[in-house]
Amino acid sequence: MLARAYHRCEMGGANCKGAASTVDHVIPASELAATGRLELFFDVGNLRAACTACNYSAGASHGNRTRPRRPRQSAEDMAREWAARENAYWREVERQAAAAPARTPHIY
Ligand SMILES: [Zn+2]
Repeated sequence: MLARAYHRCEMGGANCKGAASTVDHVIPASELAATGRLELFFDVGNLRAACTACNYSAGASHGNRTRPRRPRQSAEDMAREWAARENAYWREVERQAAAAPARTPHIY
């Protein structure tokens, strides 16, 4: 994923560091979880390379776009969104682990 963007940030925000070290969800994981579209969590089309500066400010700008009545995202909201991303990620990991049985045979 990061290789696709040649490790360059694809967001280019005000404090952009240029070198991408994180992956940003175009549609935030919290929204995917809320709408039951967790398959998009690992969808390359919903991912973009981002440097830490851009990724950490993405939640705020996204919040402004999708929820215009809220002037800016509070630290509490951001923490909640990150917790939701974590939860969505691990739910997806568990779901995929349950769906695909281990291929490595156990040796007793
Ligand atoms: Zn950036």
